[in-house]
Amino acid sequence: MAANKPRAVVSGGAGFIGSHLCAALLEQGFRVLALDNFITGSPDNLSALRGNPDFEFRQADVNHDVFVGGDVRHVLHLASPASPPRYLANPIHTLKVGTIGTMNMLGLARAKNATFLLASTSEVYGDPLVHPQPESYWGNVNPIGPRGCYDEAKRCAEAFAMAYHRTHQVDTRIVRIFNTHGPRMQVSDGRAVPNFMAQALRGEPVTIYGDGSQTRSLCYVSDLVRGMLLALEKGDELPVNLGNPQEVTVLELAETIIRLAGSKSEIVHRELPADDPRQRRPDITRAQNLLGWQPEVGLEDGLARTLEYFRSAL
Ligand code: NAD
Ligand code: UDP
Repeated sequence: MAANKPRAVVSGGAGFIGSHLCAALLEQGFRVLALDNFITGSPDNLSALRGNPDFEFRQADVNHDVFVGGDVRHVLHLASPASPPRYLANPIHTLKVGTIGTMNMLGLARAKNATFLLASTSEVYGDPLVHPQPESYWGNVNPIGPRGCYDEAKRCAEAFAMAYHRTHQVDTRIVRIFNTHGPRMQVSDGRAVPNFMAQALRGEPVTIYGDGSQTRSLCYVSDLVRGMLLALEKGDELPVNLGNPQEVTVLELAETIIRLAGSKSEIVHRELPADDPRQRRPDITRAQNLLGWQPEVGLEDGLARTLEYFRSAL
């Protein structure tokens, strides 16, 4: 391991986005320590990085004390279940990792004088009454609904980041990530893209919750990771949206995936989960102005790339 290289610590490094971020940090010349407890991630996600002398993995739950020896330049906190069925199955863990886990990772950043980046979410806007969503919108979240464990944990995580910035002058970043997809999402993840792709490729019915008129805006993972690295480099302490503003209904998304997969799957409708946001699209003006960032991968191009991965993973 080259000790002169700067070092980054990534919580949730064995997850979907975390594993791509670890690879990108290594490519940028960082040494990387990934921390993960595998609650939703997988060791397989890191198989390509194992052998790299600048990469280190430690199985750890960041809800407990996090001790890291040596210097650290960046602390990136991605640990958290991210898929609605996964956080609904683990609501207390999700609350802890957004609150206690965030506090622990901020404590690490403070001790090491490192830049801290929080992977926040468009869910802080809840079921938004403002469309598209700018960072100045405070959101419409139901704290006691089933999604509250995730949404409120992330809102608390943002408050923690701002408090450490204001009180201890920690150099903090908050990126509000909108729906992102790509290789290494778990087949059993439960979110719309993995569900629709697995169903379409297997020729099973594609399950649309509700009538499918709710909207989402999907970003490909390489665009997101590029934005996160730019936020580290050029960002400030205030939240910045990272997502692709190309908005589609969930029905359009399902139909596109079925077509790209060359599938004969039929569409079936299932009950809409409680508090499912009606519409979601990022206003990325701030990311464009502050970071010079905007997505480059179009919706169909990105879906085709993710579909290739699911073909090989099934
Ligand atoms: P993921 O479930 O694939 O990855 C999360 C990782 O965190 C997993 O590897 C999991 O095992 C790990 N983890 C959870 N709790 C932990 C703990 N206490 N200690 C150590 N590791 C722990 O999900 P993802 O899609 O890669 O999401 C990564 C981050 O980005 C999450 O914080 C999520 O909230 C945020 N985010 C993702 C999206 C998206 O569309 N993918 C959107 C908004 C926000
Ligand atoms: N969804 C769906 N069928 C599925 C999984 C999800 O219709 O099999 C819907 C879900 O109700 C939501 C949208 O797709 O309206 C996006 O869901 P996802 O879980 O991907 O992420 P969310 O944006 O809700 O966190």
